[in-house]
Amino acid sequence: MRKYNYSLKKFFPCLFLICLCAGCSSSSVPVNLSKAKKQISFYYESGQYQAELDQIIQDAMEEFNKMPIKDSSAVVFDVDETALSNYQAIKQVDFGYVPELWDKWVLQAKAPAIDDTKDLYHYLLQKKIHIIFLSARNPEQYEATYKNLVSAGYTKFDTLIVRSKNNIDTPAGVFKNVERIVLSNLGYNIIGSVGDQLSDFQGENVGLVVKLPNYMYLTE
Ligand SMILES: [Mg+2]
Repeated sequence: MRKYNYSLKKFFPCLFLICLCAGCSSSSVPVNLSKAKKQISFYYESGQYQAELDQIIQDAMEEFNKMPIKDSSAVVFDVDETALSNYQAIKQVDFGYVPELWDKWVLQAKAPAIDDTKDLYHYLLQKKIHIIFLSARNPEQYEATYKNLVSAGYTKFDTLIVRSKNNIDTPAGVFKNVERIVLSNLGYNIIGSVGDQLSDFQGENVGLVVKLPNYMYLTE
């Protein structure tokens, strides 16, 4: 397994933005924050999130099944809210973002897998498709991220890429695009990207877009 020695970087250059849900975009009156938090908790815990995930992953499998697969075919997975769920940790801080607490959480490497994503991961592995994890987490979080992915059941993948000191302030979408170009230059044919942020799909060599829901925060 190739291991990239990427260095420092801040992860989550973003605040956790509470999604004000449907209606907010069409109205100048925002949803009360307390109400928004309840709506988000309900969304994640009522089965709505699960149902949405189920459909997205099923659709993705059907699309990948139609594709011709080569030895070089690869799918790029984001980590947070894609491979791993931080929902409970974020809810614990009332959907806020405290950098110190976030770093502590990440270093614990205890985030559970998102099972639907893991189903897709196994499906792709069976088809001999290369798996690559590409995260905007910072370099100090590399080891914990690697450990967390493995302990959550993502035991086979070609590489985990996180930020380096050199791109610590680069917008996530630009950083990820550059890394996908590097991967393509290494010979990978990226046939799909799985993520929860628009920055997971910006630029070239994205392939099939598999956009997972995230109503807890937006990153740049
Ligand atoms: Mg993410």
